[in-house]
Amino acid sequence: YKAIYAEKMGAEFPQDPKVQLMEAVKAVFRSWDNPRAIVYRRMNDIPGDWGTAVNVQSMVFGNMGNTSGTGVAFTRNPSTGEKGIFGEYLINAQGEDVVAGIRTPQPITKLAEDLPKCYEQFMDIANRLEDHYRDMQDMEFTIQEGKLFFLQTRNGKRTAQAAIQIACDLVDEGRITPEEAVLRIEAKSLDQLLHPTFDAEQLKKGEKIGQALPASPGAAAGKVYFTAEDAKNAHEQDGEKVILVRLETSPEDIEGMHAAEGILTVRGGMTSHAAVVARGMGTCCVSGCGEISIDEDAKVFSLGGYTFHEGDEISLDGGTGFIYKGMIQTKEATVSGNFGRIMNWADGFRRLRIRTNADTPADTANAVRLGAEGIGLCRTEHMFFEPNRIPKIRKMILSDTLEQREQALQELLPFQKSDFKAMYEALKGRPMTVRYLDPPLHEFVPTDPADMEALAKDMGMTVEQVKQKCDDLHEFNPMMGHRGCRLAVTYPEIARMQTRAVMEAAIEVSREKGFSIEPEIMIPLVGDKKELKFVKDIVVEEAETVKKERNSNIIYHIGTMIEIPRAALMAGEIAEEAEFFSFGTNDLTQMTFGFSRDDAGKFLYSYYQAKIYESDPFARLDQNGVGQLIRIAAEQGKKTRPNIKMGICGEHGGDPSSIAFCHDAGLTYVSCSPFRVPIARLAAAQAALNSKK
Ligand code: PEP
Ligand code: MG
Repeated sequence: YKAIYAEKMGAEFPQDPKVQLMEAVKAVFRSWDNPRAIVYRRMNDIPGDWGTAVNVQSMVFGNMGNTSGTGVAFTRNPSTGEKGIFGEYLINAQGEDVVAGIRTPQPITKLAEDLPKCYEQFMDIANRLEDHYRDMQDMEFTIQEGKLFFLQTRNGKRTAQAAIQIACDLVDEGRITPEEAVLRIEAKSLDQLLHPTFDAEQLKKGEKIGQALPASPGAAAGKVYFTAEDAKNAHEQDGEKVILVRLETSPEDIEGMHAAEGILTVRGGMTSHAAVVARGMGTCCVSGCGEISIDEDAKVFSLGGYTFHEGDEISLDGGTGFIYKGMIQTKEATVSGNFGRIMNWADGFRRLRIRTNADTPADTANAVRLGAEGIGLCRTEHMFFEPNRIPKIRKMILSDTLEQREQALQELLPFQKSDFKAMYEALKGRPMTVRYLDPPLHEFVPTDPADMEALAKDMGMTVEQVKQKCDDLHEFNPMMGHRGCRLAVTYPEIARMQTRAVMEAAIEVSREKGFSIEPEIMIPLVGDKKELKFVKDIVVEEAETVKKERNSNIIYHIGTMIEIPRAALMAGEIAEEAEFFSFGTNDLTQMTFGFSRDDAGKFLYSYYQAKIYESDPFARLDQNGVGQLIRIAAEQGKKTRPNIKMGICGEHGGDPSSIAFCHDAGLTYVSCSPFRVPIARLAAAQAALNSKK
């Protein structure tokens, strides 16, 4: 080490202890800005300007023989939340040996046999610490020649399952209130609860090849990769499901761990790096599998009589620690019990309503199961993503004449109407905001020769004509091109078809099922009141025609998305025509920053490194800039129409810090993808409780 130091630093290792100490302190401060710390902060919404602190403590030694040792323990199980001491220690060792996973440690209860007096004292202090902090503690200790030292205690990191169990137990023990319980659970962590488990039937057929420590729950199946970088590339570039297999993990592996479905390590205990980090991320992890023989450089390992190379398939059960050969099908999680208790408390505290972004009956039913109170965004173009439907929307886009387009729309109408009906049925009377067609042309125009051929046949054109048509439709900035309400301005028949589909579906389901449905029709990408009025007039005319035809007096509402900066600034006028606003913060962010939402990922990392931006503005709402536009629009909209309903349906609708902003800005609801609904329910409750505080 001295030689490495001299080589890197061009000077000898300092021998003055004070200089050594100060250099060590500086190294800790520098660590705040290393790439791993930057990634970690971004993943956990930690602002870069907080900085870090350094504690200087006198050293005690756990490596002074068999009456010395060191360990890490939790007052409750950080994986399951079960009450009772949980931890590990090593005799004659230093702390780094435990956390680095270099030696496989003993369970803490073994300390009662090895050093009973120390164990008794340890348990007494652990209980007092938990009583004092009224939360599960994560403690580090060292025993030096029979004398116990506590090095640190903190509220322990835990899985979502454990967080819920512990919060409910602490309420039942009379130590905290339900409000505190709701505030104690990190909203984002609920993602973990909704993670997959193995399909029970498939699992029976699985071939078990080993078992190790169940370090972080969940089920994972995928192809093995041996380095974090390979895992990340396979996942991001090839869309592979990946299992990261390592001798042991280190912080350098964080991005690979993030990309992985599951992590398998040869060394390390339940408090090793891999275990702690995977639990924090909610990624399935099986650790300390000593039966594995691995050659990381050659990218090969063997276990249970089999040899696995890069790309071979295995499955992991983070609940039992079992390792299986091949891919075992996983299935979606179900939630109940204490989760329901927390969600009920949260629902009682929140003011924001929670809707979902869904475009299929299956997603709708799933979102309702997870507590969605309606649909905030049904992207109607997504209803045509399936292989048998996409040709029809292409036909509509490529039509040359009104007759051709009307014919294509007639073909789309039955699909659209039957989907709306199925979704209204799945919603059981809950509201649905239907967003009219907004297909950025580059996403929908065919590029595959086989697709072009099929389309040419269907449209009675030659392949060359179809190609030419696609070329003609080429746009330099498709995201700012012929999309959104601009399509309906050019081709009013599109809005007419969609209106007929929504109105007929709503009238029929209301009659058949007895729900009182009030369709909410949302016009996208509006920038001016007159633009909205133009499309609205078409919608009203068609809706009234359908009502007459069906002899119905159904009530319907017409609103708009606010997703162009101009719309936010002109919201006072736009509200004269719009009954509701929904903030499309994906486009609003794109157009406020001038960052392409499809490409920003390519350069944002340089911005994080340069500390220009700390987080992805497409994931976490930029409250200062984009947020200012939302506040202006909300204020102006309310001035014109005091009871205007306002929501958010961009991706930010499922992000806790953005949800807190929406609460604060006085929005009516947030809308997010189905699996984020529980996160949004909890985050909305936390926002309400925090603002009361
Ligand atoms: C948005 O722009 O935020 C939005 C919800 O619409 P889309 O993502 O479909 O453009
Ligand atoms: Mg949009």
